[in-house]
Amino acid sequence: MKKIKAYAADSKDADLKPYEIERRATLEDDVKIDILYCGVCHSDLHQVRNDWKNSVYPVVPGHEIIGKVLEVGKGVSKFKVGDLVGVGCLVDSCQTCSACKDDLEQFCEKGATFTYNSEDKHSGGHTFGGYSESVTVNKEFVLKVPENLDAKAAAPLLCAGITTYSPLAHWGVKKGDKVGVIGLGGLGHMGVKFAHAMGAHTVMITTSPSKSEDAKKLGADEVLISKDQEQMKKHANSFDFLLNTIPVGHDMNPYAALLKRDSTMVIVGAVEPLDPLHGGSLIMGRKSIAGSLIGGIKETQEMLDFCGKHNVVSDIEMIDIQNINEAYNRLQKSDVKYRFVIDMKSLKDS
Ligand code: NAP
Ligand code: ZN
Repeated sequence: MKKIKAYAADSKDADLKPYEIERRATLEDDVKIDILYCGVCHSDLHQVRNDWKNSVYPVVPGHEIIGKVLEVGKGVSKFKVGDLVGVGCLVDSCQTCSACKDDLEQFCEKGATFTYNSEDKHSGGHTFGGYSESVTVNKEFVLKVPENLDAKAAAPLLCAGITTYSPLAHWGVKKGDKVGVIGLGGLGHMGVKFAHAMGAHTVMITTSPSKSEDAKKLGADEVLISKDQEQMKKHANSFDFLLNTIPVGHDMNPYAALLKRDSTMVIVGAVEPLDPLHGGSLIMGRKSIAGSLIGGIKETQEMLDFCGKHNVVSDIEMIDIQNINEAYNRLQKSDVKYRFVIDMKSLKDS
């Protein structure tokens, strides 16, 4: 075990502050990674504030990790010292249950180990995330990052990227489909980029008229202001697919009204109770509402390779770790274009 620098919150009302954590010595199948950049996901904020009632303190958030390999165990041949790699929301799973065998480790029947705030099956206690100098991860959960991508702007692909890519791929979004992405934040801006890259007619559905121009630059063909009932009426029954990234419980009825017959809205944002849904919203038109959680490791690698090929990365605002609490306040107000990424040099130099 080695002590390293990190940033942690020790209660739901506390700011994040400097903290020391321990990482295990590199095991046979481990990859030890020097963390260069870490994205700031709205889930980090939810977990620090205990919004999901399952936080274990101290919380060291961070699951959009990009770094360079520092050391590999004897059993690792796929990675070598100096490789550019990524770690997302998952660091372990049983590898034997039917979900793991289907490359859906996020749904591991024995319980996946998430990058932070999960039981740590190697060292005891709970896992600590990427707001830290380094991380040691089993080789099966380490991703190769295409070298042509800007490493710092690739960090958000590890969560915001896969969380939006996976449902678009699973529900078979294709060229010419009319796809709506609801909420222009970290996830939403990646959803727009992916839907556009997949050839869909992409509509940004936002509460913020001020984001319209950006939405178009990101790849939206149209912008729909969800508070404008006239505009919502014009788009009724017209969408082949909706990706809903709203981070809190909300009324889904107005969005369900946008779906075409036999179409689906996938919820990825609200991991909490949603307002009552009128049965008629689904019955009239045989519509579906579904959910989706990140993506498995194989699909995450596919997504990174897709990004390498199509040169897709996030639009980011770089911050030093010392400004993380201010960044959380801005994230809470949807005031970020469109993902904060921490330069981890600021932690190492502190
Ligand atoms: P974010 O950057 O804060 O973006 C959320 C966007 O939703 C905002 O920019 C805003 O866009 C819109 N919004 C916010 N509050 C709203 C409200 N009350 N009503 C309607 N729209 C609202 O957050 P994020 O990082 O993209 O994360 C979004 C959610 O996904 C979080 O809850 C996060 O925990 C969750 N998440 C889920 C998964 C998964 O696997 N399912 C993975 C990662 C994150 P406009 O201004 O455009 O309206
Ligand atoms: Zn996330």
